[in-house]
Amino acid sequence: MKTKEKIIITATIVLLLLIVNYGRLDEVDITRADTLNVAIKKLEPLHQLPAKPGPSDWLASHEEDGQSFDVYINSRPIRPTIKRNKLYVIPLGTFDKRASEIIAESAIFMGKYYQIPVVMMKTESLDHVPDYAQRINPNSGMEQLLSTWVLDKFLKPQLPDDALAMIAFTSIDLWPGKGWNYVFGQASLRERVGVWSIARNGDPNIDEKSYALCLSRTLKTATHETGHMLSITHCTAWSCNMAGSNSLEESDRHPLYLCPECVAKVCWSTRSGLGKRYAELLSFTQKNSLSESTDFYKRAINILEN
Ligand SMILES: [Zn+2]
Ligand SMILES: [Zn+2]
Repeated sequence: MKTKEKIIITATIVLLLLIVNYGRLDEVDITRADTLNVAIKKLEPLHQLPAKPGPSDWLASHEEDGQSFDVYINSRPIRPTIKRNKLYVIPLGTFDKRASEIIAESAIFMGKYYQIPVVMMKTESLDHVPDYAQRINPNSGMEQLLSTWVLDKFLKPQLPDDALAMIAFTSIDLWPGKGWNYVFGQASLRERVGVWSIARNGDPNIDEKSYALCLSRTLKTATHETGHMLSITHCTAWSCNMAGSNSLEESDRHPLYLCPECVAKVCWSTRSGLGKRYAELLSFTQKNSLSESTDFYKRAINILEN
């Protein structure tokens, strides 16, 4: 056999081996998945099956099969890497004192929820938004910002190299373009940018209850959408923060915490410890009087320790 043919055959074999091994899980990932599969079974008794969807709920109009932990880890999801391992958060617009507190708390919570460092950036004004990217909604009369402008023209040009994702929180409502009324948020999963608004989460200034509701809604949207950015799709297996919502009312019915399958996806993806994550979230929810989550994390920690 000629040298040139030998080189071609060797190169072909190497290429085939690379293709076969591409996407295979390494030993550490497999061991981590095995450990998490044991935890899933332990946690299941704490969780409820999803309620049957009503006629205007998400699953009544969207055909979704869900995504098991095994399906997730074999889907080559987006994960933090040595190079891209931070979440950047930018407040965009004008926020009063209470709303600013909610954004700051949301950034802290996202870091604990995903066990990823968060970089809080300084608030940017809406002064530089071009005319085509803002409007008054003809139905609601609400001031709105074009979500695609935020993603493409505001976030993408300043996306840091070490960002797993960069997320803008806006004080005003969003719409994604012609034919749309509004959206709560929008994310470009492959391009690592996302935007969500707090405008429909209620006025946090009325009393402590209204503050807690606005905080809980903002945390829920922030963590649900960040989950999508880690390639986690909608959950249909359990009552879960990763379940789809057609409305604020439906989203209010979902818990802020994750079901056993989805929490396993997060811990596997971010290579983080389940117990450490739960302990950090418990401390946050206790401090912020989020009673449903506090009760859940206490029971989860207890069940994992026994
Ligand atoms: Zn979603
Ligand atoms: Zn789930």
